[in-house]
Amino acid sequence: MTAQILVVDDIPANVKLLEAKLTSEYYDVITARDGFEAITQAKAHKPDIILLDVMMPGMDGFETCKKIKEDPEISHIPVVMVTALSEKSDRLKGLDAGADDFLTKPINDMALFARVKSLVRIKMLLDELRLRDKTSTQMGIESDTQMLSDVSGAKVMLLDDDSVQGKQIVAKMTESGLVSEWVQESEQALPKATEGNFDAIVISTMLSDADGLRLASQMKSQEEIRNVPLVVLVDEDDSRLMYKALELGINDYLTVPVDRNEMVARVRTQIRRKRYQEALRSNYQKSISMAVTDGLTGLYNRHYLNTHLDNMVQQSIKNNKPLALMIMDMDHFKMVNDTHGHDAGDMVLKQLAGIIIRAVRSTDLAARFGGEEFVILMPETDAQAAMTTASRVREQVEATPFKINAQGETISKTISIGVATLQPQGDTSEALMKRADSVLYEAKHGGRNQVKIAA
Ligand code: GH3
Ligand code: MG
Ligand code: MG
Repeated sequence: MTAQILVVDDIPANVKLLEAKLTSEYYDVITARDGFEAITQAKAHKPDIILLDVMMPGMDGFETCKKIKEDPEISHIPVVMVTALSEKSDRLKGLDAGADDFLTKPINDMALFARVKSLVRIKMLLDELRLRDKTSTQMGIESDTQMLSDVSGAKVMLLDDDSVQGKQIVAKMTESGLVSEWVQESEQALPKATEGNFDAIVISTMLSDADGLRLASQMKSQEEIRNVPLVVLVDEDDSRLMYKALELGINDYLTVPVDRNEMVARVRTQIRRKRYQEALRSNYQKSISMAVTDGLTGLYNRHYLNTHLDNMVQQSIKNNKPLALMIMDMDHFKMVNDTHGHDAGDMVLKQLAGIIIRAVRSTDLAARFGGEEFVILMPETDAQAAMTTASRVREQVEATPFKINAQGETISKTISIGVATLQPQGDTSEALMKRADSVLYEAKHGGRNQVKIAA
């Protein structure tokens, strides 16, 4: 998986070094000499990752990072701060500025590629989700998907059997507004994690009675909690385990002894990212259901019906199965609007949709065809069965008091229904619809409140 990386450093030798390393791994590298140029380059090229030096004249790395994260056009691009090894407080400042990760100088190759790889993976996923989000927005679905910084109240599970360390971590989380649940028994970890509805899980890999990394990877393979970010605590000297963890898809690691401020900052970053992904996903789901359903009644819309009708007709003909279709139209519906107002009309339509939904089988397809016209498509249904259903719907409408306002005032309404069934030879979806429509017309002319079936 290749990606474009923007390397930002004021010292040309540093840029050259990183460029060489990354190019040798087939990454596409662009560069900038300072914060201002970095922002210009980021806007122009939309790189997949930005490697940002901290110490730069003019605008330092923190400020540059803040500016990037405040700009909606580029705020989604992961930023990795490159700090000097000694300056531990810089890491925190970086994470506070919204950085997604940091690397320490001199840069260790393994660490560099592990971080870059995992961020590229996240970025690809986010790009895909963002693209869908754009479509949703174009379809008129309001999108409020931004990376939100406040994660207070988020639930974090900690698995750690070190009672001193555990206590300190829990205290720090509480102080930072996170709700933590501390698990000290390894065998409770998996069931707790699946039930607890956590926003993030922190696992020590130095448990006395279990392999923390194995537990973590088991969690990653569980459908229900796959998307919960996992952070592992790793011994400072065990670099092999750190890379192993990232390779296994663990979201992040912290070295022990744990810098508790750093821990909170990293956990927060993970939670923010998770919530952003969830928001994008749910928007996408909404746009899918919006594309096929009618906003007022929640039934399928005309577009969906047409597509599905074609498929259903073809399949029924191929399998030599009956298929029935009914079109129903409320009688004198215009009068409802004229007498009681459009809102009353909408209420009546919603209630009619409710009657229809309750009357059909789960294999039937109910759609709002337009205005006050509804269609029910009934697979494996012959003329007689279709007539029975149609009559039942007609009777139920007649017997239902339709509410027309919040005060509970009701009116009586009736519907007319045209039914047609698929002919075994040479039939088409258009012809089927047409036959149903013309008998509906007959029902209207025959005095309304009745069911007619095409011969
Ligand atoms: P008929 O018995 O011949 O079917 O008479 P009708 O009044 O029901 O039929 P007509 O087609 O003349 O009128 C349908 C009305 O439905 C006209 C239109 O303004 C109204 N309508 C269409 N869509 C909606 C809607 O979403 N909400 C409301 N309140 N009214 C709608
Ligand atoms: Mg009508
Ligand atoms: Mg009509």
